[in-house]
Amino acid sequence: MRCKACMKCREYVLIHPEDPANQEVMKIFEGKHRGHTVVTLDFNEVKGTFKNFQEEKAEESEESSDSEEY
Ligand SMILES: [Zn+2]
Repeated sequence: MRCKACMKCREYVLIHPEDPANQEVMKIFEGKHRGHTVVTLDFNEVKGTFKNFQEEKAEESEESSDSEEY
């Protein structure tokens, strides 16, 4: 799986070429990181070290039950 990643902010967004909603997310991502170093990488290269751009704006946080590390 491919993704776009900002080397400066260490954020990535997954690329789903068939998904129109993803095109919008991509535009927002590129707008936010305009002037930064945005590269296309394999998901395996960003996993763990970069944070998901889409998770940041997600309102619902169902999976954050054991997040006492914060
Ligand atoms: Zn950036």
